Amino acid sequence: MPAQLIDGTALSRQVRERVAQRAAALASRGHRPGLAVVLVGEDPASQVYVRNKVKACHEAGLHSVFEQHPATLTESDLLARIGALNENPAVHGILVQMPLPAHINPHRVIEAISPRKDVDGYSVLSAGELLTGLPGFRPCTPYGCMALITSTGIDLRGKHAVVIGRSNTVGKPMALLLLQANATVTICHSATPNLAQHARQADVLVAAVGRRNTVTADMVKPGAVVIDVGINRNDAGKLCGDVDFAAVAEIAGHITPVPGGVGPMTIAMLLSNTIEAAERAAA
Ligand code: NAP
Repeated sequence: MPAQLIDGTALSRQVRERVAQRAAALASRGHRPGLAVVLVGEDPASQVYVRNKVKACHEAGLHSVFEQHPATLTESDLLARIGALNENPAVHGILVQMPLPAHINPHRVIEAISPRKDVDGYSVLSAGELLTGLPGFRPCTPYGCMALITSTGIDLRGKHAVVIGRSNTVGKPMALLLLQANATVTICHSATPNLAQHARQADVLVAAVGRRNTVTADMVKPGAVVIDVGINRNDAGKLCGDVDFAAVAEIAGHITPVPGGVGPMTIAMLLSNTIEAAERAAA
């Protein structure tokens, strides 16, 4: 495998260690940073994600409030719970696990979170801050991807970055972060003709689609940095990304694995945003 592996597990450990140091510094001044994690319903995948987030909080010395509600919770009751967490001084970040049950409007819920506690970076205000280059909370997955790209030592100025996917939580903020780092950015989506032709132009290729083997070896420029955000299962039921890892690793310069790439960084950046929120509250 000529490509160098970008080890998200190792990098996330470094980020979490730094968060733990910052949490200890806050604690020594009498402030205990805290994250509230809210889960509505019994979706098994969401339960695993939430458990991992709560565990990571504790390991980094953050206090966490975990609220699990039945799928029948009404939207107004959920908004009232968020109102209470907004007012709770022990809570510096609020994360509502998506997806929510169909009867709850996710936009209303996200907008109900205080901007000071929007550590997922999903609100319209946080999106606007990213768009205009103002400081603010960046969505955790693309924020983590940027840290992975930076870890390769590549200078993004003047490089061509291609992002496949345009969701509000991954693709669009990813493209904006790359733009802010002075890359020339192309965004591809399901209506893009000639995806392969665009992908082959990429010095940095980010795949955030949710369909395995979307990126094959013939779509990758030799030496490119390839970041695989996708989470899928192969025929054997094992986790895999959007990239044909074995074949692309023969062509790329750097590549993230799945698992062990973007996933651990998403949680690490959530902790990083939470400690940032706690530091601002303590200032
Ligand atoms: P999403 O909201 O479903 O968006 C998928 C995007 O891919 C859409 O913009 C869609 O285009 C585009 N797309 C679909 N088929 C395509 C094709 N054939 N060619 C080009 N583009 C295509 O998904 P998401 O939330 O962004 O997540 C993407 C993947 O990342 C999923 O597998 C998700 O599980 C994973 N993920 C991982 C993490 C992590 O921590 N590792 C975090 C978040 C998400 P249209 O807009 O035209 O429909």
